[in-house]
Amino acid sequence: MPTLASPLPTRRADLMARLNKRTVYDLAIVGGGATGLGLALDAASRGYSVVLLESDDFAKGTSSRSTKLVHGGVRYLAQGNIALVREALHERSTLLHNAPHIAQALPFVMPSYAWWEKPFYGVGLKLYDALAGRSGLGRTEFLSRRETLASLPSVQPEGLRGGVMYWDGQFNDAKLALALARSAALQGALLINRMRVERLRYTDGQVSGVHGVDTLTGQSHEIEARCVVNATGVWVDALREQDGSTQAMVAPSQGVHMVVDKAFLPGDAALMVPKTADGRVLFAVPWLGQVILGTTDTPRDDLAPEPLAFESEIDFILQESARYLTRPPQRSDVKSIWVGLRPLVKPAQDEGDNTKALSREHTVLVSRSGLVTVTGGKWTTYRAMAEDVLQKCVASALLAPRGGARTEHLPLVGAGGGEVGGAGGPVSVPVSIGAPEGVHSYGSEQVWLAQLPGADTWLTPSLSEAMVRFAARYEYALSVEDVLARRSRLLFLDARLAAQIAPAVAAILQSETGLDPDVSGFLKLAAQYMLEDGSAPL
Ligand SMILES: Cc1cc2nc3c(=O)[nH]c(=O)nc-3n(C[C@H](O)[C@H](O)[C@H](O)COP(=O)(O)OP(=O)(O)OC[C@H]3O[C@@H](n4cnc5c(N)ncnc54)[C@H](O)[C@@H]3O)c2cc1C
Repeated sequence: MPTLASPLPTRRADLMARLNKRTVYDLAIVGGGATGLGLALDAASRGYSVVLLESDDFAKGTSSRSTKLVHGGVRYLAQGNIALVREALHERSTLLHNAPHIAQALPFVMPSYAWWEKPFYGVGLKLYDALAGRSGLGRTEFLSRRETLASLPSVQPEGLRGGVMYWDGQFNDAKLALALARSAALQGALLINRMRVERLRYTDGQVSGVHGVDTLTGQSHEIEARCVVNATGVWVDALREQDGSTQAMVAPSQGVHMVVDKAFLPGDAALMVPKTADGRVLFAVPWLGQVILGTTDTPRDDLAPEPLAFESEIDFILQESARYLTRPPQRSDVKSIWVGLRPLVKPAQDEGDNTKALSREHTVLVSRSGLVTVTGGKWTTYRAMAEDVLQKCVASALLAPRGGARTEHLPLVGAGGGEVGGAGGPVSVPVSIGAPEGVHSYGSEQVWLAQLPGADTWLTPSLSEAMVRFAARYEYALSVEDVLARRSRLLFLDARLAAQIAPAVAAILQSETGLDPDVSGFLKLAAQYMLEDGSAPL
């Protein structure tokens, strides 16, 4: 039996045994990304009985493919959306407080090459500080040319006049998803990955549960619930269509990121270009020992689980990066390329051609049959979204009232301090998230990691045998991809290295789970994350 302070095991057989005990849940959540997982934690912490079903793996969709910013959204400020920015700034500070091992403050520098840029952007960022108020992470500062070069040693010096430094947050998105899942489980929620919801169940015309299929065994499961929430991100319209809706809610927009060596952006600060030659935003962000370059915003109407980048997107990121960095990254420098689909909410009648103008805010809809759908928003605001969904569920009489949210001051698993399951005592997180991947993201759970077999056996400088065992025992990992894409982030950081160590990871995983860890599937996927010189995908 685990003590309250030790991690909760996630053995599949035990999870399935729980699912097979037929109960009527208060809430069945479909989709295990930021939105669904945040909702599961909020609802379970209020005392609702919760089941969450994810068709693939937690954060397999958009939630592992973000730019990794916990932000108020400087560019939404430029659009005048003050309420959205204020809410996100509040959530930014809540998240950094509740998950200090996964999210930290990061300085961003906007270099200026035209005389007007520094005062223009500086004033906007001072307003950003003012909106953050006590939630501010650091003061915006005007930098001289010399100070800008000190913060961004590899920024293009020719014509550089100075810059503006402001603060936002940065996080490990998939790791946060896992922390939400595990925190929800500690509050009593049942969360199951590899369980696809194929159909909704109805009683007297009202949604009364879901029909799920275990994608590992093909076995069917009938799950009853008073309230069903469709939190399937860009895929929400599939369930809505089954429910009789004829109008699409989401206009997907694709965003590409490429990862290059840290040498392209030495130092601790991120580079932010607010307006590229064609009016877009470009980031170069240090993350887990490498640098992320991105992103794009391209309308897309197919909804592949692993979308591929367009050539024009690759060219855009490389060409724009070359304008701002002294050493221009080449295709052969790209260690990993990954693509995510934004679930932007479509206004009625919109054809979805101009995704940059679509709403970044979330929307909650309750259908005539009682299906609740939530989509849009951003990672940063997952907690506020969960509160809105539950308020709507109670207002629609789908759930009995149970008091307000309890997540604002609820540390997540690994944060130490007050969370159920933490090893106790606040953790000090000595390294920034820009530092190489490693044990720091385990926070207070490092003590449990250190006790597992293989704690000193390293497969790469940042992935130990014990981490693979931890992923299998406590983090719901079932395949090599689960471990290398989302428990460790190696696939997103260095796809070739991830492919090289896949067989070793598979052997450890199989010894833990007894399941086929699917090495060949992973190798095929890893090839898509590699950008060969001259042979780009799509
Ligand atoms: C390029 C890009 C950059 C971004 N950068 C940032 C950023 O820096 N900061 C920020 O705050 N936000 C950012 N975002 C936004 C943020 O990532 C998303 O808003 C958020 O991840 C959406 O989460 P979700 O849970 O709604 O969707 P998803 O993460 O896609 O989750 C939906 C889940 O539902 C599952 N599913 C689908 N159908 C079924 C079914 N039938 N049965 C069971 N499960 C199902 C899917 O497998 C998936 O896991 C970015 C988005 C993109 C695309």
